[in-house]
Amino acid sequence: MSEDQLLYKPYSLKLKEPFGTAHGIRSTTEGMIVAIRSGDLVGYGEAFMPPYYEENQETMTSFFESIDVEKLVSFEDLSESLKYLNEIKKDNTAAKAAIDIALHDLKGKQLKKSVRKIYKIESSKPIFTSYTIGFDSIEKMLQKVKEAKGFKTLKIKLNGENDVEIISKISEITNQELFVDANQGWNDTDKAIETANKIIALGVRLIEQPFPKGMWNETRALQDKISISIIADEDVQTKDDIEKLAGYFDGINIKLMKCGGIAEAFEMIRIAKGFGLKILLGCMTESSIGISAAYQIAGLADWCDLDGNLLIKNDTCEAIKCVDGQLIGNNNVGIGITNDANLRSMFD
Ligand code: MG
Repeated sequence: MSEDQLLYKPYSLKLKEPFGTAHGIRSTTEGMIVAIRSGDLVGYGEAFMPPYYEENQETMTSFFESIDVEKLVSFEDLSESLKYLNEIKKDNTAAKAAIDIALHDLKGKQLKKSVRKIYKIESSKPIFTSYTIGFDSIEKMLQKVKEAKGFKTLKIKLNGENDVEIISKISEITNQELFVDANQGWNDTDKAIETANKIIALGVRLIEQPFPKGMWNETRALQDKISISIIADEDVQTKDDIEKLAGYFDGINIKLMKCGGIAEAFEMIRIAKGFGLKILLGCMTESSIGISAAYQIAGLADWCDLDGNLLIKNDTCEAIKCVDGQLIGNNNVGIGITNDANLRSMFD
């Protein structure tokens, strides 16, 4: 009998504060924790998607059930394992990311190397994450800004209604660099140009996904009138989306859950840089498993928004640390988990 095992458990991430975006408000994110066991070693992964993407614990389970784990783990080369994974089904990127992360973690443990070393990422520049301020009443948003003093950059979620007022009030109480995420909340080009110019004057230095998915001409019209970067998020999922966006956006937001994992993200970065696009490495609401996995390739990004684990109160493990907005890695093997006691008890 084979020793290789693929194990998975449903898990609900509990947010410290209800989190608001232009999509609505929520206080939990449902997903799965994955463990791939081979011999004495275990690689961990996770899948978490917000409800507006069509992936849930049921679809994740059915994806995991369709995997032949012996086949998955038997390849010498990680890329062969991932090719097999992609042949099973086209979608299910979060479920795929969970397997991809667990395989990378396992491979790193087998080779006694961090994933960063496996990908030969040498960058030694300090890596900072922005901190996300969810959409809420202005009073609550200001309170959250006050609590996020240590971070160099704040990413403010807007919803298209009182955007200028929110940024104006925030800029009165802080000199931190401000990014905004409109989450597709803007609809009219003229109004977008007016809003953008006003918030740029107040200190905003990056705008993420201003218009609904597919409104690229409007995005380019806005891009022509402003000097800061416009980043695609909902408009970009995998590497197949990059080329067509190149003339319309200045950069792309890559998230492991959205694209299917570390290998796909690495390839997306290579392709996007070829088109002169900048890279924002982002995340969903995730635990330290997903954040530490993303951290392994963070040296290749222009900006990082890897704060998902800071927003939850029931993290799954200890891994990379965040000190005053700086992500502090380690030389641990795999994705860099430093204390997996919780995870081990989950799969005992
Ligand atoms: Mg976004």
